[in-house]
Amino acid sequence: MTSMLDRPASQPVPRLVDQFERGLDAPICLTWELTYACNLACVHCLSSSGKRDPRELSTEQCKAIIDELQRMQVFYVNIGGGEPTVRSDFWELVDYATEHQVGVKFSTNGLRITPEVAARLAASDYVDVQISLDGATAEVNDAVRGAGSFDMAVRALQNLADAGFRDAKISVVVTRHNVSQLDEFKSLADRFGATLRITRLRPSGRGADVWDDLHPRPEQQRALYDWLVAHGEGVLTGDSFFHLSAFSDGSPGGALPGLNLCGAGRVVCLIDPVGDVYACPFAIHENFLAGNVTEPGGFREVWQHSELFTELREPQSAGACASCNHYDSCRGGCMAAKFFTGLPLDGPDPECVQGYGESLLAGDRSTPTPNKDHSRGVPLQLMTRPPSRDCDENPLAGFAR
Ligand code: SF4
Ligand code: SF4
Repeated sequence: MTSMLDRPASQPVPRLVDQFERGLDAPICLTWELTYACNLACVHCLSSSGKRDPRELSTEQCKAIIDELQRMQVFYVNIGGGEPTVRSDFWELVDYATEHQVGVKFSTNGLRITPEVAARLAASDYVDVQISLDGATAEVNDAVRGAGSFDMAVRALQNLADAGFRDAKISVVVTRHNVSQLDEFKSLADRFGATLRITRLRPSGRGADVWDDLHPRPEQQRALYDWLVAHGEGVLTGDSFFHLSAFSDGSPGGALPGLNLCGAGRVVCLIDPVGDVYACPFAIHENFLAGNVTEPGGFREVWQHSELFTELREPQSAGACASCNHYDSCRGGCMAAKFFTGLPLDGPDPECVQGYGESLLAGDRSTPTPNKDHSRGVPLQLMTRPPSRDCDENPLAGFAR
């Protein structure tokens, strides 16, 4: 393998995008899901969260990972779950990370962002907060995230704003029901002095069950692209929408900003609550499992030398996309989206803007079964009316209150 990891000092430094493709010494976008426990049961949860896994890493094991990240000079981690704040050692781990030069951005549904917690967060320069919200109105949001979740998220944003926390993030998964609310999301973010982050609905975890009903229709994909071109400055998108760059006619301003390649195992990876390391947060499946942080060599060994990540850093075949004029910008789209819809990894994305994905989806295919499901067994479906209770089982069992 030729990569940044083993480049002789005498060789010239390659372009940034080439460095990314060949892998870096340490991930630049490391997601760490601390727990599968969650007070909500969002229908599209990428990690099928709900119940705590009894094998969850202990506080000491988590601190050992942070020590390793510090040694590897990983400057920040995205902490998620589940709802990470339900771990009784959550704040202890956040403090431990920031004291060890590992900044923290954590995603939350807002459950524990009380005025006191907001004040504590506002006092730190190294912690960022991302509040999940999938509708700019309670009706749209709660249909996906559960009754009361809109009010909970907005209360958290208000508490953060009141405490003087600057630049919280509002994180939105774009669906066919909220894609028309992008202006309203932006206004909501402006109201709280927050930044809007919009991401793609991937058919991962429970998202696989609702993807057909929720992913934006072709004309909505176009509207989303147009909105991003017109209003996307200052809106965070990560690597979510590079497949939409294929709408560009090549004119200046037509390309979307952000990472325009699949960074799985190259610059991106996931550590899950039991220490398993996957190529990407949206690829929780044994096919993308690279190792476990508790094995000899720890996270560094998995990141730098696992067979899977080594393979992902090799030049990938364009396959059926090779003859497409848009391949340079679209790169065939998202590996996880293809995998979980049962499409070949070296073919078009299921939401290919040229329409090739749709024809493939209409053909014979078999979709893989997720190998981890921590759902609580409550019926998960898009709600047409609020449920009579949020959950049938206490998902926080095992946690100190
Ligand atoms: S598999 Fe998809 S979500 Fe994961 S890094 Fe690649 S493009 Fe991003
Ligand atoms: S054919 Fe492939 S490269 Fe072309 S737009 Fe579709 S997914 Fe992208």
